[in-house]
Amino acid sequence: MQFHLNGYHAGNPDIAIADEGWRDPSGELPQTVDVLIAGCGPAGLCLAAQLSRIASIRTMIVEPKLGPITKGQADGLNVRSMEMLQAFGYGEKLKREAVWVNETTFWTPDPANTSNIRRVGRVQDVAEGLSEMPHVLISQARVHDVYLEIMRNSPTRLQPDYGLEVVDVEVDDHPDFPVKATLRRTDPEREGKLEMIRAAYVVGCDGARSNVRKAIGGSLHGDAAHQAWGVIDLLAVTNFPDIRMKSLIQSENSGTVFVLPREGGYLFRLYVELDRLGEGERASDRGFGAEDTIAKANHILHPYSVEAKDVVWSSVYEIGHRLTDRFDDVPEAEVGTRNPRVILAGDACHTHSPKAGQGMNVSMGDTFNLGWKLIYVLTGRASPELLHSYTEERRGAAQALIDFDHKWSRIVGTKSEYEGEEGMPEFQRAFIANGEFTAGLSVCYEPSELIGSAKWQELAKGFPVGKRFHSAPVIRLADAKPMHIGHAFEADNRWRILAFAPQGDHGQTGGAIEKLSAFLERAPQSPVLRHTFAAEDIDAVIDFRAVFQQGFRTLEYAQMPSLLRPSKGRLGLHDYEKVFCADHAAGQDIFDMREIDRTAGCLIVIRPDQHVARVLPLDAVDELSAFFEAFLKPQER
Ligand SMILES: Cc1cc2nc3c(=O)[nH]c(=O)nc-3n(C[C@H](O)[C@H](O)[C@H](O)COP(=O)(O)OP(=O)(O)OC[C@H]3O[C@@H](n4cnc5c(N)ncnc54)[C@H](O)[C@@H]3O)c2cc1C
Repeated sequence: MQFHLNGYHAGNPDIAIADEGWRDPSGELPQTVDVLIAGCGPAGLCLAAQLSRIASIRTMIVEPKLGPITKGQADGLNVRSMEMLQAFGYGEKLKREAVWVNETTFWTPDPANTSNIRRVGRVQDVAEGLSEMPHVLISQARVHDVYLEIMRNSPTRLQPDYGLEVVDVEVDDHPDFPVKATLRRTDPEREGKLEMIRAAYVVGCDGARSNVRKAIGGSLHGDAAHQAWGVIDLLAVTNFPDIRMKSLIQSENSGTVFVLPREGGYLFRLYVELDRLGEGERASDRGFGAEDTIAKANHILHPYSVEAKDVVWSSVYEIGHRLTDRFDDVPEAEVGTRNPRVILAGDACHTHSPKAGQGMNVSMGDTFNLGWKLIYVLTGRASPELLHSYTEERRGAAQALIDFDHKWSRIVGTKSEYEGEEGMPEFQRAFIANGEFTAGLSVCYEPSELIGSAKWQELAKGFPVGKRFHSAPVIRLADAKPMHIGHAFEADNRWRILAFAPQGDHGQTGGAIEKLSAFLERAPQSPVLRHTFAAEDIDAVIDFRAVFQQGFRTLEYAQMPSLLRPSKGRLGLHDYEKVFCADHAAGQDIFDMREIDRTAGCLIVIRPDQHVARVLPLDAVDELSAFFEAFLKPQER
């Protein structure tokens, strides 16, 4: 974390200096905003947190509830979401507060007495080496709190407007604010009162029954699964031995229970398969309550039992796997002629079962993809065509989620009699096989303007183009700090060029790193110079860093090329955090771990949402410039 760049400021460095002039939600509604977000779920809040950090963007987020939720809904943060939250500065806080899912256990009926269950398997929940971050469980409400804190601490001090719902949106030809939104008050004093507001963009994060989706003519398509599930957060006394492990339990004929330990050491959640539903029947029609969920859980867990002491939250629902036919307001036939103004994210686009724990994760993944793109368009760095890439990229991720959910629901719903050659039940084998997906790490964006080809993939096989950048340990040269290189990349909307030095290169004049650095710093066609405003720091848009193969004691920071120790800010201070060395502790060398060509070295281009956009040779400067030129506007310097 870096601070004091523009002068010393006492106090908590997480709280940014407030910007003048934006609004207090208790006052009048504005007539116009740059971005109106519908819905304070994980999708809406993750977007609002990113936008709130940009003082020039006027963002408003509305929510029909009268305040933040305090319990219930989703609770799984997969490792990818934890990596993302680390980039927002909340990795350590969540690691401390949440429960870590280290081990998953599998239970099936005991053949000696099929009314009893017995443990048949256990596996490490996240396979070794997938990520440095853990898979954790924590109330969705606490994840909301993280984003609300980021917003409160941001220069815009953004707060939600509670008690307002989006009823309708219409796009017209207004030159600056073409989306006319109709809002309705939901607070008791003004209930039903309509308000109008104009926005440059509206993002519908308003959940599965999205009004924004309806307003742009979209609908969800797919299956309604005819199965009622009960979910319950409990403080309870139990003799079930794996209550602090994630456990998947199949009964002989009564369905399935999932046990999820929760934050704090005592709380846990049960997902319990209740009854089959008839055609057109909703779970709510049956009038199931918490006591039905507990009774069924006790039946399935036999010979173990759960004695509830405090039901913290419970809900009953049926599972559908559904995908929207529209991610934005531009029909496919018009993609070449107009750009999105109304965009959907999260459950407004895809609904699926909570069995695989993806609800919050995929929704936040949507708006982590969208946030930087909206910021680039609204701050004049990119043209609005960039927004089409959101739909292209996230439709694929949503489809993969629905396909996985179908497959996983079938596996979980089928009795695991087959124990296979590995001697483990079918659902355990499927769990292991799908580990990368459930960790959130299988998303791989297709080649496009924002994702290059895999032509040079051989130079760094461990950084697959299109996938998220997989962090590894390094030592920071200037202060010999052992750290994860990925943790140097904050959620600050910047692109990164990360250069891996070839063998023997120590930053000397004429070496590959120095030549690349000189090009980026001085050549007229340098993407760093072409796409950064004159008044900005040299790394405001594209942040150049390097990793060397030598140990940190053999390199001299002062001899590094000047772009790797740039002068920045009002005072022209040096940035000391751009140069890293391989960590030579056993098994920690990033060059080995990520299969980087030691002879040639290479450069990796990383997007603001941490996906690898390109792997290139260190001297491929023309390709590098052309890549950025395709979607970033040239700026006056
Ligand atoms: C009651 C409930 C229980 C759930 N239980 C589980 C669970 O047990 N396990 C699990 O994994 N997942 C669960 N989920 C799903 C999980 O919470 C979602 O997948 C995840 O929250 C999706 O995030 P989102 O931001 O897209 O949508 P949501 O979290 O649904 O957030 C949408 C927000 O938009 C607001 N909103 C609705 N209409 C409007 C409007 N017209 N204008 C403005 N705002 C509007 C809503 O009040 C809500 O705050 C549950 C969801 C709900 C709603």
